[in-house]
Amino acid sequence: MKDLENKVFYIMGVANKKSVAYFIAKALIENGAKVILSGQTKDHCDKIQKLLPESFNFVCDVEKQEDLINLKDNISQYTDKLDGLVHSIAFANFDPGQKDFLDTSLANFQQAIQISCLSLTQVCNELRDIFNLNSSIVTISISNTKATSYGYMGPIKAMLENSVCYIAKAFSEFSNIRVNSIGAGPLKTSASAGIPNYIENYLYAEKLTLRKKNLGTSEVANTALFLLSDLSSGINAQNIVVDAGMSVNYFDQEIVKNL
Ligand code: NAD
Repeated sequence: MKDLENKVFYIMGVANKKSVAYFIAKALIENGAKVILSGQTKDHCDKIQKLLPESFNFVCDVEKQEDLINLKDNISQYTDKLDGLVHSIAFANFDPGQKDFLDTSLANFQQAIQISCLSLTQVCNELRDIFNLNSSIVTISISNTKATSYGYMGPIKAMLENSVCYIAKAFSEFSNIRVNSIGAGPLKTSASAGIPNYIENYLYAEKLTLRKKNLGTSEVANTALFLLSDLSSGINAQNIVVDAGMSVNYFDQEIVKNL
């Protein structure tokens, strides 16, 4: 993708080499872009350094106000302008003591909102002056926020997708900065391992895809590259579903016949 060459992107959310953010960073580098990464902890940053030695990285834990305030200073050690942002972070404390959705605690819900949703708005606000006027911002949601299998992360991802529209509107007042989300189907990453019954749901999801093969993380990364590039210049304030057709296949006859 010629268009990405020498552009500079800030990427949040590499924890290991299975992370969606890692696949996106790697693909951007392969396409000639430069990446700045932040990890939640020093350990994450050490891992990033080993995985992507050509990248600049620093710690940003979005639960810490000072880390958000220091964002621009940290980034300015590498560049004074960004061409885009990838927000690929989420966390929910799935408490084994929680009986069902109705039993969601305020503390857990608030923490999950801060990390998985509000942080996008806060980071966009902190970096508003250093985005080039044609920048592209991408966050990662889930393929169906109403699937009722993600615990309280479902409503929070719905909020994230909605925030995308409000952030896009705010940026449109002074720029052509675009903001979109990717609604990704189930993937094999460390975040998904924490979701109750995830393995069973993952195997079932594979049967629901039209091609009978689950999504690869690189397919989500490729969509992110498209959204970060000028090829998607007409797309703004949208959620792009990447689920290998799963959402249209409720009544797959192979599954129905095996009941
Ligand atoms: P991952 O565990 O590799 O990435 C999650 C990242 O969130 C980690 O890097 C973690 O350090 C970061 N994070 C958590 N709390 C943080 C904090 N306080 N401050 C800063 N960073 C913090 O898992 P992943 O699957 O790559 O997740 C990336 C995104 O993709 C998430 O938004 C997730 O909801 C989304 N997603 C994942 C799947 C899936 O099946 N794995 C499907 C759809 C969407």
